Amino acid sequence: MVTRLYTHPIFLEHITPPGHPERPDRLRAIERVLDDEAFAALDRVKAPEGDEATILYAHPADFVARVRAAIPDEGIARIDADTTASPKSWQAAITAIGAANAAVDDVFTGRADNAFVAARPPGHHAEKTTAMGFCLFNTAAIAARYAQKKFGAERVAIVDWDVHHGNGTQDIFWDDPSVLYCSTHQMPLYPGTGAKNETGAGNIVNAPLAPQTGSEVFRDAFLSRVLPALDDFAPDLIIISAGFDAHHRDPLAEINLTEDDFDWATGQLMQRATRHSGNRLVSLLEGGYDLQGLAFSVAAHVGRLMKG
Ligand SMILES: [Zn+2]
Repeated sequence: MVTRLYTHPIFLEHITPPGHPERPDRLRAIERVLDDEAFAALDRVKAPEGDEATILYAHPADFVARVRAAIPDEGIARIDADTTASPKSWQAAITAIGAANAAVDDVFTGRADNAFVAARPPGHHAEKTTAMGFCLFNTAAIAARYAQKKFGAERVAIVDWDVHHGNGTQDIFWDDPSVLYCSTHQMPLYPGTGAKNETGAGNIVNAPLAPQTGSEVFRDAFLSRVLPALDDFAPDLIIISAGFDAHHRDPLAEINLTEDDFDWATGQLMQRATRHSGNRLVSLLEGGYDLQGLAFSVAAHVGRLMKG
């Protein structure tokens, strides 16, 4: 397996207010753990600048203009109660999109079997016309549409195991059966969406998890709902919205997963990528707010991507 890792120093320059859980130290913790020689074989790539036109694959132009206008010249601007922008946030968000699209290029052209994009800000809460939940643009949604437009992918699956429901991704693909969206998430929890009966055009599969549940319930949701949906759909590409805030150490939620669960779930999705998608799998960092839980979970996830 050739696994690419996309990073860029600009991702550290999206600055959030003091005490905000979505902070640059998250990426420093990931960089530290992936510095270990166990990851020497990673194909490390500096993320390219993104093409702003690809934002329009998932968001209308007036919304993009609104986000751009909200970027401050100095200090930190508030976009909603918990979503903020600093002077370099636009560049960080564009580069996150550039990295995700480049990872799609890699898996379709055979330069890599799979890729992990360690970027911020995250994306899965960004709806068509609303930036929220620490997210400005929906990077996973843009990457899915990019795969369809550039490589003719007919069916793209997005599997979202972040502990929060990806309301943004669900919103963008609600009536688009060419994209399957599967999410495991704690319920009740922010943002409040993600009930089982939210099914879109039959392409939305929500598997809510009760607070204080853990490995067994998560794996059962994967085995009984997510994986069968993937087998029925037979995607040309699998994108993971890889948040690691369902880890038991995470301060924002009450699901008790361990890094072994992320290792297992990664392996399950790789099997489906082999079966249906020519191994093509692109993983994008979303949440994960306990630095140790995040680092150990990313190590397990990326280690599995490399091993197959
Ligand atoms: Zn989250």
